[in-house]
Amino acid sequence: MEKICVAVRLRPPVSEDSSNGSFWKVEENRVSLHRIHGTPLSNTSYAFDHVFDETSTNASVYELLTKDIIHAALDGFNGTAFAYGQTSSGKTFTMNGSENDPGIIPRAVKDIFAKIETMSDREFLIRVSYMEIYNEEINDLLVVENQKLQIHESLERGVFVAGLREEIVNNAEQVLNLINSGEVNRHFGETNMNARSSRSHTIFRMVIESKGKEFNSYDDLSVNDIVRVSVLNLVDLAGSERIAKTGADGVRLKEGKYINKSLMVLGNVINKLSDGSKQRGHIPYRDSKLTRILQPALGGNAKTSIICTLAPEEIHIEETRGTLQFASRAK
Ligand code: ADP
Ligand code: MG
Repeated sequence: MEKICVAVRLRPPVSEDSSNGSFWKVEENRVSLHRIHGTPLSNTSYAFDHVFDETSTNASVYELLTKDIIHAALDGFNGTAFAYGQTSSGKTFTMNGSENDPGIIPRAVKDIFAKIETMSDREFLIRVSYMEIYNEEINDLLVVENQKLQIHESLERGVFVAGLREEIVNNAEQVLNLINSGEVNRHFGETNMNARSSRSHTIFRMVIESKGKEFNSYDDLSVNDIVRVSVLNLVDLAGSERIAKTGADGVRLKEGKYINKSLMVLGNVINKLSDGSKQRGHIPYRDSKLTRILQPALGGNAKTSIICTLAPEEIHIEETRGTLQFASRAK
């Protein structure tokens, strides 16, 4: 089992009052709470594989955290990269990025096609799908009509989402256009565009299949060298914030319960996977749609990374601690 790589990233403060800036301090691979009402606190320091401070770029996150997963996917290893954190902490900024600093998804897509160009001895077939899980329902973001899709399992295909569109793609631009149209589909009929996306898990998936172009005899090659198939998932999780039981209306409360449950199951699955001992026992993949869909690309010899995004402001301290605890459990 590969170790799960766990990172945290602090976004810059957005508060207009700059004296109200970050309450968190980053030193190398550690983050700690360094002031609260003027008093320094001890025992609030957490260490991770990487800690990205507020000056970090998506370029550096990609380089240090995700690039290896992407390259391994071209060599036949499954991989999954998650962004976890409360709403407004920077998950989508990290995954999708901005005009000036593209996020992990566009960088991965470009990198994959650039790498393929250099692997002239192999022939590739790339398929892309894009889905959201909202209230434990799976919706296809590439085809608006594909709602409430079911998970099936077969000997041939393993676990799969029945009816999900898989688009065959030939270049990076085509994939980025698909993603953009997926975003438009998601917001179809939504009054508040940001609200829905922060309450659903978004899974961008590439299935990478390749085979050696020239071989004359099967005797010369191991089967693995002939055909490789790998699945790469890039996941923007629903906001991890606790929904207040009082005040939340029926819809919000229902959303909150589904989110809390699926994130808890994800935490349990990752915690079991990262526990190196052999007695880790049953892994509860089946307890949520998210973990069930991702199961083939979690565990085994799949490569996994999690970036936990943190909002630096004082009002978010409790949520930030919750995120750091999730991140600590994943190590
Ligand atoms: P989330 O997806 O977790 O709800 P967003 O990614 O939408 O959060 O981020 C909230 C806001 O903060 C956005 O306006 C985004 O552009 C900005 N932001 C987030 N992270 C960063 C960062 N590292 N650097 C600059 N701006 C950021
Ligand atoms: Mg978001």
